[in-house]
Amino acid sequence: MYDKQAQTADILKILEALVAFDTTSFKSNLDLIDFVAAKLEKAGANVHVLKAKDQPKANMVATFGPNVPGGVVLSGHTDVVPVEGQEWTCPAFEMTEKDGKLFGRGTADMKGFLAVALAHADDFANASLKKPIHLAFSFDEEVGCTGIQEMLPFLSDYVAAPRLVVIGEPTSMQVATAHKGQYVAKTRIVGREAHSSRPDDGVNAVVVAAELIRYIDDMASHVRQAGPFDESFEPPHTTFNIGPISGGSAFNIISNKCEFDWEFRFLPDQDGPAIIAAYMDHIEQKVLPTIKAKFPECDITNEIWAYLPPLKADPGSDGESFAMSLAQKNESTVVAFGTEAGHFQGLSFPTVVCGPGDIAQAHKPDEFIEISDLEACSRFMVRVREAMCQ
Ligand SMILES: [Zn+2]
Repeated sequence: MYDKQAQTADILKILEALVAFDTTSFKSNLDLIDFVAAKLEKAGANVHVLKAKDQPKANMVATFGPNVPGGVVLSGHTDVVPVEGQEWTCPAFEMTEKDGKLFGRGTADMKGFLAVALAHADDFANASLKKPIHLAFSFDEEVGCTGIQEMLPFLSDYVAAPRLVVIGEPTSMQVATAHKGQYVAKTRIVGREAHSSRPDDGVNAVVVAAELIRYIDDMASHVRQAGPFDESFEPPHTTFNIGPISGGSAFNIISNKCEFDWEFRFLPDQDGPAIIAAYMDHIEQKVLPTIKAKFPECDITNEIWAYLPPLKADPGSDGESFAMSLAQKNESTVVAFGTEAGHFQGLSFPTVVCGPGDIAQAHKPDEFIEISDLEACSRFMVRVREAMCQ
């Protein structure tokens, strides 16, 4: 029998422990993974800790029940965004309960979901599961989803094709079936330094950067006016942004170096790689020949340091209707933020985003989650378990 009170107390205890691990993305998550793996092993799960290639971090995949097709994957990231520079009125890495809310870094994004899943470990273990329940916990989601990319080969080799993957990012337990994709890139320009009074002796990298930024902003204006459009998103088109830029050394020196970060978030039905290709083409065909003709040492490189595939809706599919029945919702939604979902969908795993908490709290000082939201997620887990026993 499902005892709501006992379950909530368990969830709170586990969430308190998870928040206390400072798993800011630039730090190790191994202590948290050890804690989680020990807990799941004790409950009887088949646990795989997958060490990161070149840093002290790990992913973890744990399985309850037989590893056969048709299961559910409950997926979440273990890292959190930094608290530096934010004005917290409560301790960030210590859970504080107040007025039905739980404060602390990661409570909403997304240790709350992990805590609910973990609180159900014994119930998963004791149920007569005919289909498996997998827990897939990743590192480095907040810094470009690099952890999940290391987990993908294991998932495709080991996890029998699931019926559904649930990414427990905060949606207030709404079922989100789509989000935009994202590219994040750094463009570096090597010019040639000279005295500012001798423009023909140099190539100003800052000016070249300005030209490229103009090109990116023109692409932004173009999609804003000409589309494609998808009205389920706000705004209903692909967006671009220029981030930090640095270059130049003095007003009287022609700069030989400039670099800038930029990103774009593209609609699921827009061809993201084609946008990158168009930008590279512009550089290769138009800009590089001009500056190299002046001085061959001039160069432009573009490094893509994060790629988030979009999550594409699959209306009427079994995965989406199954997710809606688990969440007891009649309609689905889309989310404005990116998640690891597109990577799972890339393995042909039906995937949705559905988790407790409000994305408006994520990444903010005094981040919190409502206890009632965790309880709604707990009821979701009960339905997952029941579905996997059928
Ligand atoms: Zn998140």
